[in-house]
Amino acid sequence: MANSLPNRPLPYGRQFISEADVAAVVASLHADYLTQGPTVGEFEQQFAKYVGAKYAVAVSNGTAALHLCALALNVQPGQRVITTPITFSASANCVRYCGGEVHFADIDPETGLIDLAKVQALLEAHPKGYFTGLIPVDFAGLAVNLEQVRQLADAHGLWIIEDACHAPGGFFVDSQGQEQRCGNGRFAELAIFSFHPVKHIACGEGGMITTNDERLFHHLLRLRTHGITRDPADLVREPDGGWYMEMQELGYNYRLPDLNCALGLSQLARADEGLARRRQLAEQYDAAFANLPGLTVLAPGRPGHAYHLYVVQVADRKGLYDFLKTKQIFAQVHYIPVHRMPYYEGLGWREGDFPLAEEYYAHCLSIPLFPTLTDEEQAYVVACIKEFVSVEG
Ligand SMILES: *Cc1c(COP(=O)(O)O)cnc(C)c1O
Repeated sequence: MANSLPNRPLPYGRQFISEADVAAVVASLHADYLTQGPTVGEFEQQFAKYVGAKYAVAVSNGTAALHLCALALNVQPGQRVITTPITFSASANCVRYCGGEVHFADIDPETGLIDLAKVQALLEAHPKGYFTGLIPVDFAGLAVNLEQVRQLADAHGLWIIEDACHAPGGFFVDSQGQEQRCGNGRFAELAIFSFHPVKHIACGEGGMITTNDERLFHHLLRLRTHGITRDPADLVREPDGGWYMEMQELGYNYRLPDLNCALGLSQLARADEGLARRRQLAEQYDAAFANLPGLTVLAPGRPGHAYHLYVVQVADRKGLYDFLKTKQIFAQVHYIPVHRMPYYEGLGWREGDFPLAEEYYAHCLSIPLFPTLTDEEQAYVVACIKEFVSVEG
């Protein structure tokens, strides 16, 4: 099929819904609870186990997860938090929801991740207490070295929220040679995940927070449901009946329904399978693009990479994007740097502030990578890209 159009359009990512997933959702519709039934807790437990954390809190989406984390860490107006410019805006927005100020450190162009040397320089250029937190992102599925982030954070009195939306099942290797799974809570206070359909695990919409901190865990449970508690141990007044509950602080309705958790739980059972297929496809892309003039692969061959995205860089990115579209291949750009968004420019950030992120953005393209992409479809994508690069080259 090398150059004829594929049987279906090929997006950069898509969900994989199996018959078992459908059956799990249908069964949940027949169960007693549509919203807060037993599947929520089961999904939380299984997910915590999957990433190696003590606690997990299911929430309505990844953005809500970030918002609750910022609230639980008590982000206040004027507090300054550092994140990467190459991420989805939500990583930064959670700080703004609480009135905090977002700052950025430029990326390491080899990995696309926040450059920890730049974070350190930024921290050292200001008095202690100037910044309050760090939000590193496991961009594309490549884990940030959180052991090193923790050292920086401890030296400057900062908390860490790991945005692990791209990296369930990913890991980095620590200084002892141990694999440290994304979201395992060993180094960051909190980690967050998204179950949007393009991510590894689909819930429709959905998100998860993981932590090893029992106090934060209990606080997140309360914030997730309006700031309300029924737990006798937490009540500040004497109950006057069986209905009694207290709204103790301003919370939200960020719950994830049973229905979505049933899908998530069923998907989670196949997470390792999907991850293995993502890694296999990435390896095949790496081999196909090795030594191809005019094209660079972002961070090939890294252990622990969870491959939410497979990113290539070319001189004429718009040309490649448009060309692939004519071939029914719908590549995508991840990301327009957050500081270049009109909203963040309105807060004072400018073009030229983070030149490596901007240079990366000018050339990056995420090409199709998802578990149901067949070898034939992948060969077609490779052939089309080679055709473009050889003409441009
Ligand atoms: C998807 C994503 C989010 C937001 O998750 P939603 O579930 O879409 O709200 C946050 N950060 C990153 C890095 C993401 O990729």
